[in-house]
Amino acid sequence: MIEKFKELLSSNQVISGSSVEAQPFLVEKRGNFKSACSCIVLPKNTSEVSKVVSFCHQNNISIVPQAGNTGLVGGGVANDKQIILSAKLMNSIIEVDTENFSITVESGSILKDIQNIVSKHNRYFPLSLPSENTCCIGGNLATNAGGISVLKYGNTRDLTLGLEVVLPDGSIYSDLNKLRKRNIGSDLKHLFIGSEGTLGFITKACLKIFPKPKKILNVLITLNDIDEAEEYFQKIYNEYSSSLSSFELFNHNALSVVKKHHDLKFSFKNSSWYIIMAFDILEENHNITEFIAKINKPHNEYIITEDKSIWDYRYLIPTSQTSFGQSLKHDVATPLSKMASFIKKSLNDLESKYPKLLMPVIFGHMGDGNLHFNISPQDSAYNLMALKPEIKAIIVENVMAMDGSFSSEHGVGLVHKEEFKKFYFKNQYNNLRLIKQTLDSKNIFNPHKILDIN
Ligand SMILES: Cc1cc2nc3c(=O)[nH]c(=O)nc-3n(C[C@H](O)[C@H](O)[C@H](O)COP(=O)(O)OP(=O)(O)OC[C@H]3O[C@@H](n4cnc5c(N)ncnc54)[C@H](O)[C@@H]3O)c2cc1C
Repeated sequence: MIEKFKELLSSNQVISGSSVEAQPFLVEKRGNFKSACSCIVLPKNTSEVSKVVSFCHQNNISIVPQAGNTGLVGGGVANDKQIILSAKLMNSIIEVDTENFSITVESGSILKDIQNIVSKHNRYFPLSLPSENTCCIGGNLATNAGGISVLKYGNTRDLTLGLEVVLPDGSIYSDLNKLRKRNIGSDLKHLFIGSEGTLGFITKACLKIFPKPKKILNVLITLNDIDEAEEYFQKIYNEYSSSLSSFELFNHNALSVVKKHHDLKFSFKNSSWYIIMAFDILEENHNITEFIAKINKPHNEYIITEDKSIWDYRYLIPTSQTSFGQSLKHDVATPLSKMASFIKKSLNDLESKYPKLLMPVIFGHMGDGNLHFNISPQDSAYNLMALKPEIKAIIVENVMAMDGSFSSEHGVGLVHKEEFKKFYFKNQYNNLRLIKQTLDSKNIFNPHKILDIN
């Protein structure tokens, strides 16, 4: 099989799954899955993708699409009967149209590179995640990635104007639309955004870009309790909804794991909770500093700075927690009005069932209702994995009882298939199966991710 792919492309575009070079494509970020594959195929353009996919379709070879391989739910994991189809060599910036406020890129473009190129054109691409140095736009689209700026700019779906996708039979769906308003029936791009590689291979995208903020003002505030976070959010968002782009929350355990591994330059008093915000300033005249001073409670400290390294406190949490030992991750969403109640109830439930055993490391995008409710053990020698199903059940039950979601921005992949089947609206689930069967009748695209069709 490898030889055939080498014939279709060239020998340096195919890597054997058993070689050392294959390792970065096989290692899953959290070590939760052991990936294998017969080979990794690296096309350089859409027509090469189409050639490879057509061959796989004719020969019933199953394909796992991959981009930066930073996904956290097992969506990019392959087995030894599958090939990994990687977007890594498809990283051209096709066009920056400053006047249309859009950029057209290939799907293997690294998110950070897109941000930088847009910035050189005096424009702004707001999608921003802690994995932005390695994740690619193809993966962001396939997972409908969120990140820290959803509050103002929406998630990847909201940033997308047009898409090009190679469908499971090798044909090309090409709609690199640059229009913001175009009502011509159902907009099919939305099928592929968030489909986690189950409906085809995204090759290109046209994305919205924005005026570059004159400056970004960052504010960190220490808080006594979680109710204060909600109170501050209501006040600040009501006043500054047009410039508040991020409103993030983290607890003291999250700060401790970061401090254990990093020596950061800002200092502020220890508290139970912290919020960190970004205001994108488009006009010189704003009175954010005065406003924060006015609403702040005397017992809380705050820092206002243009130095964006203050975000290290937030961005370094996920990797610091990983090196801290075992952790159970829950990427959940609640309506904004129920987030504080969800946190309090879940913390109480866990503490009363496992007194003094757990260390909840809670952080996330409070402003858009998405929280990473992660659990580490108090004692790193403790085997937390034994409690994984019970703890997940408590958190999922609480979040669903509050009209939330068991998955918010990372997707379903292999990790949340059970909950997806259990909680996802029955008709919708069946409709999704029908769509999958229609587009991918041979079930060769990322089979058994999100849902099973047979
Ligand atoms: C430290 C850290 C922090 C993170 N923070 C966030 C965060 O704040 N918000 C957030 O949303 N996510 C976050 N993530 C998760 C991850 O970075 C995102 O899901 C990202 O969008 C995945 O992009 P990727 O290029 O790495 O995709 P991959 O991991 O390569 O793939 C992810 C999924 O997309 C599919 N896919 C990939 N490329 C294509 C393609 N070209 N066509 C079709 N399907 C494709 C794959 O099959 C897989 O199902 C974080 C991850 C890490 C490691």
